Amino acid sequence: MNTQTLESWGRYPKTTHKRIFHQLWKSDPLPFSNSEEPLLPYGLGRSYGDSCLNQDGNLIVTTAMNRLIHFDTETGLLTCESGTTLEDILNFSIPRGWFLPVTPGTKFVTVGGAIANDVHGKNHHRDGNFGNHILQFELARSDGSKHLCSPTQNTDFYQATIGGLGLTGLILSATIQLKKIPSPWIEMESIRYQNIHEFFELAQESDEGFLYTVAWIDGLAQGKSLGRGLFCEAIMRIQKTHYQHPKGN
Ligand SMILES: Cc1cc2nc3c(=O)[nH]c(=O)nc-3n(C[C@H](O)[C@H](O)[C@H](O)COP(=O)(O)OP(=O)(O)OC[C@H]3O[C@@H](n4cnc5c(N)ncnc54)[C@H](O)[C@@H]3O)c2cc1C
Repeated sequence: MNTQTLESWGRYPKTTHKRIFHQLWKSDPLPFSNSEEPLLPYGLGRSYGDSCLNQDGNLIVTTAMNRLIHFDTETGLLTCESGTTLEDILNFSIPRGWFLPVTPGTKFVTVGGAIANDVHGKNHHRDGNFGNHILQFELARSDGSKHLCSPTQNTDFYQATIGGLGLTGLILSATIQLKKIPSPWIEMESIRYQNIHEFFELAQESDEGFLYTVAWIDGLAQGKSLGRGLFCEAIMRIQKTHYQHPKGN
């Protein structure tokens, strides 16, 4: 395929790519390996900016590489290909009583994109970023080599690839530590706060007691109301009466 256009979420800048290649299997060699032409992985293009675009260069689209490879029901360790979406994982894991440790504001992102942008969720103050829960991944480099990366193996690649914007190579697959949940329900409360000072008080108090926190701020309020908004805080809910595990365990 030649001179195709793919966009990021912000739809800016408009970029023309030389070639767009779809990686189908993690065992397939990288396209254009050993070529001097710049390559960049592309997931679902949900990046706000241009980090998934490669003006006049080549893109490797990963979304066909979306297979779940292994799941351990005891430990919650999930291994999947990097084009797997967070939606795919949630559909699989929630009925089994497991949840993603970190989820951004959309589930329509790939595991590779979530690692490369080291995305955060509303539990950032407690659980850190997506990359904090990646036990290992397989990385393909443009020289054709493949590396298993973890906190103890190829640590330089491991650290540089989490939040590395696809610049260290193509993540082929990853192992994620999922989080055990008592039910698919969350309990949430919304608190109206009057100004930025109340926001900081609430945030400090809430961060200690709640796993998920987020605030919506009225950007037009001024004077004494500057920063007013709605503060939402949530915890996982234990509601066994409503939650019937489809597998019965
Ligand atoms: C509505 C909405 C809400 C959002 N909310 C949040 C939020 O709460 N928190 C947050 O942190 N982000 C948030 N985001 C941003 C989004 O989570 C990130 O941009 C995410 O990285 C997009 O993933 P993607 O699969 O679409 O990757 P792309 O946008 O396609 O690519 C992102 C980066 O990852 C690289 N990449 C993709 N796949 C691979 C791979 N297999 N190997 C190596 N590198 C790869 C690309 O080269 C690029 O640098 C939100 C986005 C939207 C649209």
